[in-house]
Amino acid sequence: MAFNSADIGAFKNVWVFCEQRQGKMMPTTFELISEGRKLADELGVELCGILLGDNVDAIAPELGNYGADKVYVYNSPLLKDYTTDAYTKVISEAVEEIKPEILLFGASNIGRDLAPRCAARLHTGLCADCTHLDIDMPIYKNFLKEASTLPAERIEKLGTVKINGADHDVSRDIKMTRPAFGGHLMASIFCPRFRPAMATVRPGVMKKRECKKNVEILHPAFNLTEADIKTEVVEVVKAAKKLVDLIGADFIVSVGRGISKDVEGGIKLAEELAEVLGGVVGSSRACVDAGWITADHQVGQTGKTVHPKVYIALGISGAIQHKAGMQDSECIIAVNKNDTAPIFEVADYGIVGDLFKVVPELIESIKAAKA
Ligand code: FAD
Repeated sequence: MAFNSADIGAFKNVWVFCEQRQGKMMPTTFELISEGRKLADELGVELCGILLGDNVDAIAPELGNYGADKVYVYNSPLLKDYTTDAYTKVISEAVEEIKPEILLFGASNIGRDLAPRCAARLHTGLCADCTHLDIDMPIYKNFLKEASTLPAERIEKLGTVKINGADHDVSRDIKMTRPAFGGHLMASIFCPRFRPAMATVRPGVMKKRECKKNVEILHPAFNLTEADIKTEVVEVVKAAKKLVDLIGADFIVSVGRGISKDVEGGIKLAEELAEVLGGVVGSSRACVDAGWITADHQVGQTGKTVHPKVYIALGISGAIQHKAGMQDSECIIAVNKNDTAPIFEVADYGIVGDLFKVVPELIESIKAAKA
């Protein structure tokens, strides 16, 4: 079903798709609930989670710890493991029935598969891979007044739709921001004519904030049969490889192309420094592209977004795409032999020098301080 602008006034509340796997809530869900709380407060509406699975009621109250007012729970053995068909059908039909104005997904593998399918079925807009969300239509209007040749009258009408012949103000719109053109600029995207406005949000970008609420758990009726699902999940096999947990780490020591004269030695130094700090090793994309380290270590626009207590960048120049993933770290320490490297622009502490000389001294000093 397609909702056109005449239906917009019927849509209310902010929804977050609450991703769970094997009955465990994914950390991104709490980040999105916290962000959704902020948006719902600005709009003066409720924040609702939509949770699909098999017997997942027990984890629904966790969402109340981060500010959810309600959770719509859809339980079925057919929803135990994620399938595109089943999840798309249940979510799309729930949206048609209950009509949220905003619907957020994590940009996880599941979110990236599911959100576009729902958006297409609901005939609405989806902004993928957002790094920032606001309620902000007036800023967009001001920008157009200054930058476009559109008559002011037409700009004022933006965000106003006719419902039963009367003007209806939809200017409380969500502004979805994401990197564009290879990260060289940030694009602000609005979805003023269709509902819900949908976005996927990169894991790790939004901060989770505790905000206790008495959450109401609801079980709306829904229809789902085996005939709705074209695929069958035969087995879920967990990857044997242990992936590095960059998003949850307090200390990250990242390596860049600056280790090129001794790749093995450079990575070993980073591992040693990470170990004395109780942290993990990250990297720039240059090292991943060169095959020196696996992609799960990559920080940046096409890697992970991190905000540890301390981020140490070793031999990383500080390209905009790398900074996009680490510049919100609480404390940034950069080691680079070039004193004009852009990484120093975001660093709290900069050490100009050869990482192969600096890092062993750092390790020794930390060990001595701990002894
Ligand atoms: P370089 O830019 O080559 O920098 C190496 C640095 O090491 C230099 O500053 C040099 O002075 C210093 N150095 C050399 N030797 C030493 C030494 N012995 N001691 C100390 N310092 C030394 N990049 C990312 O990191 N993450 C991303 O997610 C990402 N996504 C991208 C997405 C797109 C669409 C594009 C176009 C690019 C992306 N990039 C990303 C690539 C990015 O533009 C840069 O090319 C990359 O970050 C550079 O990595 P680097 O800093 O390790 O290497």
